[in-house]
This record gives sequence, C-alpha cells and structure tokens, in this order.
Amino acid sequence: MASIEFVKVTKSFDKHDVIKDLDLKIEDGKFTVLVGPSGCGKTTLLRMIAGIDPQTSGSVLINGKDVTKIAPGQRGVAMVFQNYAIYPTMSVRENIEFGLKNNKVPKEERTRLVESISATVGLSEYLDRKPSTLSGGQRQRVALARAMVKQPSVFLMDEPLSNLDAKLRVQMRIELIELHKKLGTTFVYVTHDQVEAMSMADTIVLMNKGLIQQEAPPDIMYRKPSNRFAAEFIGVPPMNIDDLGVEDIRFGFRPESAVLSKEPGGQHFSIRGVIATREMLGSETVYQVKYKNSSYMIKCIEDHFTVDQEVYLEVAANKIFFFGADGNRIGE
Ligand code: ATP
Repeated sequence: MASIEFVKVTKSFDKHDVIKDLDLKIEDGKFTVLVGPSGCGKTTLLRMIAGIDPQTSGSVLINGKDVTKIAPGQRGVAMVFQNYAIYPTMSVRENIEFGLKNNKVPKEERTRLVESISATVGLSEYLDRKPSTLSGGQRQRVALARAMVKQPSVFLMDEPLSNLDAKLRVQMRIELIELHKKLGTTFVYVTHDQVEAMSMADTIVLMNKGLIQQEAPPDIMYRKPSNRFAAEFIGVPPMNIDDLGVEDIRFGFRPESAVLSKEPGGQHFSIRGVIATREMLGSETVYQVKYKNSSYMIKCIEDHFTVDQEVYLEVAANKIFFFGADGNRIGE
C-alpha cells in the first residue's frame, strides 16, 4: 500500500500552467476519485504520479519519498486506461502473463499468479480465449488483471469504464469497489462523471481549471459543498442557484429538496410558480417551474402535476444554501 502527496506542484505545457501550486494528500489504501470537467487536469495529475509526464516544479511523494527521479517502472504503480491496452493476438492468459515473463518470473509462479488473479476478476473460464471473442466488460477485466499481476501498491485508473455501455458500467463500478476492498490497495481513479465519483469514492477530489475546489467524502461533498462550483457539479439535475434580487449573495437548493403542492405548506421559501416542463423518469419526475424571471428544476416522486399548472414550490429552511460574491458557501 502507499500514500501519495503533491507538494507545491506546477505542471506547464508551453509556458501555460495547467496545474499551479497544487498541494494534495492521497491516503494510503483509500479509493480516491479525481473528478472535474474535461480539461481540468485530472489525467495530468495521474501521469505525474505514474512518472509518465513529470511535474514542472514541486514534488510528488509516494510513501513519503520524493519520486521525481524514479523511473515509472520503479514506482510501484500500475495504470489502467480507457482503451484497455491489451494485445489482440495473445490469449487472455498470455496477456496477463506478459509482464511477468518480461520480468523473468519463473513459470510456476507465473501460472499461480495468473490463475489467482483471473479468479479474482472472474476470468478463469476465459484464459484460452482471444480478446476479440470477449465482451467489453471482460476485456476491461483483462486490462485490470494485467495491472494486478504487477502487484502494485497504487492503481491509477483513467476513465476505465467510459467505453462500456450504461448497464455494464454500473456492474463494473460495483466490481471495482469489491476489488478495492479485496486488495486493500490505494486506488486513484479519474472520471468526469460525478455519479461515478459519488458511488465509488472514499474521497472525492473535485477539480476545476487545475485547482482543487473541494476534497471530501461523497456525503460531505453533497451536504456541504464548499462553493458554487462544487454545489453545481455534484447532483443531477444540478442545484438551483438564484439571486433573490440581492446583489452580493446567491441562494440555492437541490432539485430533490423542494416540495410541490397545490396549497401553500408554510415552508421558509415559498413561491407560486407555473410548471413549464415535465419529464417522467419512472420512479421520479423532473419539473421545471417558472417564477418571474427565474426557473427552477424540481425532482420529486409526485407525477400528477401538468404543464401550465400553477403550483406552490417550497423549500425548508435547513435545505437552503447561501453563497457569497466570491462563490464560497456561507455558513458551517
Ligand atoms: P479529460 O476529462 O478531457 O480527459 P482532464 O481533466 O484529464 O480532461 P488533462 O488531460 O489533464 O485534462 O489536460 C489538462 C489541460 O492540459 C488541458 O487543457 C490540455 O489541453 C492540456 N494538456 C494536456 N496534455 C498536454 C500536452 N501534452 N501539451 C499541451 N497541453 C496539454
């Protein structure tokens, strides 16, 4: 296992700072997810840990040791990518064994490792098959197994599930959580998908434009976003944020925190608006409610409101967030 630390790390491409003065500690044995919009610098951080593309200044430490001068292969990390990097002409067994052969691991030990790892990721039956005969999820497991034979102390994963269809992605998420539990190794996982981050992470590191916006477990990220960016990035649909007609302050509430009703219910925030759109999702319905120049998204289990209907939209006081002019959330 291993902890990772960034100390005052800057990474520049063509004199442009993509990451600037970043400090971050990634805990030993935890499942840490780096999440943020496209281009915010997630992959760049991962590549610096792996040593594929070193930092411009500052230090990256693994287990307290500065690894700046340590070659990628010697850092005890293994990387799993979105496009699986498996060899199409080799069987599953040969793919998994490849790194071990290169490292001159004796045959008996190779066979033992390949068999125990393929059992862990559910590939035992497929060892003699070619990758082209496997499903996307099975191929992703081959890529995982290839990383696992290296017995790394850190797994780095860059959007490993993004080529899979929605159903398989959900299944693989659960498998990865279980794999992490079994191995107890440090996982650093990159995604732009906040649902993936919320469902898998012990700790989420939320980034924007090369800066860390918030670092917290998923429930804290949801209940106590540190700023508007975090509030709007986590949650679908995003938090409603509006100005109350006041200049330096914004208020916000989550779509699932509001109540719609025909009669006023006496809550702290109460307006009478009109339903502009209605989207039935099965167990929930998403409404857009218009009020004066504002519009709010509401997610609730009631599905009987119709477009153009007048409704009371109410939010309890403890479900309302406030943000200052600098974008930071006000309150504890
Ligand atoms: P995505 O989710 O789209 O993969 P990301 O958060 O992983 O995005 P990075 O790949 O880390 O983003 O890129 C961060 C920024 O650095 C981007 O603006 C990108 O254009 C820039 N960048 C990355 N690699 C290079 C490079 N080799 N040369 C120049 N600019 C680069």
